[in-house]
Amino acid sequence: MAAHQEKKASEERNHKSTRNGTRTSQVQWGRAWEVDWFSLASIIFLLMFAPLIVYYFIMSCDQYQCSLIDPVIDLLTGSEYLSDIWNKTPTLTYRAAGIYSLWVAFQVVLYVCIPDFCHKFLPGYVGGVQEGAVTPAGVVNKYEINGLQAWIITHVLWFANAYYFHFFSPTIIFDNWIPLLWCANILGYAVSTFAMIKGYFFPTNAKDCKFTGNFFYDYMMGIEFNPRIGKWFDFKLFFNGRPGIIAWTLINLSYAAKQQELYGQVTNSMILVNVLQGIYVLDFFWNEAWYLKTIDICHDHFGWYLGWGDCVWLPYLYTLQGLYLVYHPVQLCTANAVGILMLGLIGYYIFRMTNHQKDLFRRTNGNCKIWGRKPEYIECSYMSVDGTKYYSKLMTSGFWGWARHFNYTGDLMGSLAYCLTCGFDHILPYFYIVYMTILLTHRCIRDEHRCFSKYGKDWKHYTAAVPYRLLPGVF
Ligand code: NDP
Repeated sequence: MAAHQEKKASEERNHKSTRNGTRTSQVQWGRAWEVDWFSLASIIFLLMFAPLIVYYFIMSCDQYQCSLIDPVIDLLTGSEYLSDIWNKTPTLTYRAAGIYSLWVAFQVVLYVCIPDFCHKFLPGYVGGVQEGAVTPAGVVNKYEINGLQAWIITHVLWFANAYYFHFFSPTIIFDNWIPLLWCANILGYAVSTFAMIKGYFFPTNAKDCKFTGNFFYDYMMGIEFNPRIGKWFDFKLFFNGRPGIIAWTLINLSYAAKQQELYGQVTNSMILVNVLQGIYVLDFFWNEAWYLKTIDICHDHFGWYLGWGDCVWLPYLYTLQGLYLVYHPVQLCTANAVGILMLGLIGYYIFRMTNHQKDLFRRTNGNCKIWGRKPEYIECSYMSVDGTKYYSKLMTSGFWGWARHFNYTGDLMGSLAYCLTCGFDHILPYFYIVYMTILLTHRCIRDEHRCFSKYGKDWKHYTAAVPYRLLPGVF
């Protein structure tokens, strides 16, 4: 595999032609150099309100049985004051700080100190040292892909403790959920602030830094493209792909354990949430090498959006269904459970196959079969900052011929399935589908803007060939 990628990289290098010093508009790909008022207003809004949104959701479960409306009614009618709600909120504890520090330190050790061994015995799994995409400055970073191994080791230890050692209760995460929220926030803000200072004073690669001159925008969207400490500790891969996302499945397991403790049984809805989200998380780790080519790693700079988002937003808001089911244990009838399972699995299939088709197409430079036929594509070119010209291809076959982001459509179907497990009594569990719809629709637009800056008229040819974004004939 590594040999194949080396060959591909050298082929790419052979393909490129140099136009020294000629910076055309095509080199403006990557995140923005200038900030418009709408982006700035959205960023300030998010910086101010995203932490409050997370607090509000988690507090409403803790104090109001997951009702999002009751706290507002209480405040408006004067039966509670903000200070009452705040006084009832658990504070930061030494125990939570200890658990959280141990957790993050353990994940750092797994990430940095244990080279991948899974690729040596799991057929088809791509792990070990892999190359990322070409950055706007023309750098190709190497990554140690060992997330699957970290996930397996962590979960083996979790189950060994739950069934054999009993050092701590499997409900530990649920039982410390709000104190842990404060710890996650401390880490999220600390790492984002550190990344900003690092971008100014000791960047890993100065040519891949972007300064808009606007403090808020730079803090939120990041300055450095791939901040690293040493050769291997990559901030983006670690924070995107370790403490938060590995915790996702453990958090759900902790919720299931809490249901068992409170009600003496685990509901089928909780099992569905654990299974469907477990597949999604495991898919992420199985395809971690592919993940190096997604927008998060290829195009986003590392700032508060990723740093705080991965530490707080992801583990707290992506797991709301399991949390809700602790307070409202829903037992679905068989027909509904099967229907939701099918929606989740079909969504996952579309998500995976669409991503796989692009990955296969790009890896083989179009020399592959998509749905039994040689893929069709549009040739395109782009330039890096130093004026080097690269060639690429945009596929118009398979799911990529149906819509330009059919992988998002599959993701949204899966997201809806998680929410439906919770029934229709409250809106809180539906936050996820609303959020994902906004996130992925915005991402379509952001990605297309970037692709247009990168590929110019070639991108226009592509959008003419594949006119819809998410749903053929609709959008
Ligand atoms: P994509 O995997 O769709 O990557 C978009 C990039 O692919 C484009 O920028 C372009 O990059 C390339 N590309 C676009 N069209 C084509 C084509 N026709 N043929 C070949 N290459 C093409 O997007 P993301 O990275 O955003 O998402 C990856 C997955 O992660 C998705 O399935 C998404 O649903 C999921 N996701 C989940 C999130 C979550 O929070 N759960 C958040 C974000 C994403 P290039 O410059 O290389 O041409």
